[in-house]
Amino acid sequence: DAKTVSGRGWRLYDPLAADRQARSRRLEGELRLGLEDQQFFLLYQPQVDLKTGSVIGAEALLRWQHPSLGIISPSEFIGIAEANGFICELGRWMLVEACRAACDWPGDMSVAVNVSPLQFVKDDLVKDVEQALLLTGLPARRLHLEITESTFLDRTDDLLKSLAQLRKMGVTIALDDFGTGYSSLAYLAGFPIDKIKIDQSFIRKMSTDAASQAIVIAVAALARGLDLKIVCEGIEGDIEWTLLRQLGCEEGQGYFFGKPQTSQELVALYRDPHWSDKRRAS
Ligand code: C2E
Ligand code: MG
Ligand code: MG
Ligand code: MG
Repeated sequence: DAKTVSGRGWRLYDPLAADRQARSRRLEGELRLGLEDQQFFLLYQPQVDLKTGSVIGAEALLRWQHPSLGIISPSEFIGIAEANGFICELGRWMLVEACRAACDWPGDMSVAVNVSPLQFVKDDLVKDVEQALLLTGLPARRLHLEITESTFLDRTDDLLKSLAQLRKMGVTIALDDFGTGYSSLAYLAGFPIDKIKIDQSFIRKMSTDAASQAIVIAVAALARGLDLKIVCEGIEGDIEWTLLRQLGCEEGQGYFFGKPQTSQELVALYRDPHWSDKRRAS
């Protein structure tokens, strides 16, 4: 991170980069204690049926309530936990915690859990999922796993076998952040997945940026052709909702429908009979 002074080969001391590094080392050293000390918790962002606006499930999003640094975002610590392998332990805890919460949810609400590529490689994810379902009693069809395109960078037989096993159990597989990775469209057809989540960067710009809207339309058509469901993330306004509904997109999530919230708040939202009317009126 330090800048090289041209011609002299000096390295300028960058106090900000040094701070970041020190913080990152500190977080790495405190991950394990944090898990033992129950500093991690999950919030749940509602996922809705775009036709009706009704809540059909939620995505579990991890937070770290650090005793002296406050709430730390997953964009900061997931990378650190992936780099040192601790993500596998954290991932196992998350699965059980999310399944346990979903057991309290009404109807057939699903819970979507983010999974890191490392959990397929370094860990027996299929066994972890089986155990979480067994321990909590959540039916497999109510569990969704969100994986990213980077999971397929190392497209081994083991990975494909794990995904096939999970789907055979009844677990739904969603491809997260679609459009930001490097996969070719030809690859997509061969991925053993059920859903595509269009990345929020396209959705957020679609009402003002013609190119983003064109990408969303193309991905929606592609998904339909491949018989995959589509989930739109990052819906922040009524305009986007209306557009996506017209395009025939099935599911969505975003601040417009609800921020990540506690399990209790999510249940209250689901039960609120006026909720979708209020959404419509706003
Ligand atoms: P993601 O899985 O793509 O999650 C969506 C992120 O977008 C979440 O941020 C969510 O709060 C945010 N978001 C949702 N709706 C809106 C919206 O309308 N507008 C805007 N501006 N943002 C919105 P969050 O919770 O900070 O998570 C960031 C990323 O961290 C996640 O991206 C995911 O990749 C990772 N992550 C979070 N929890 C876990 C976890 O339990 N395990 C793993 N492996 N990764 C996780
Ligand atoms: Mg996700
Ligand atoms: Mg995403
Ligand atoms: Mg993301």
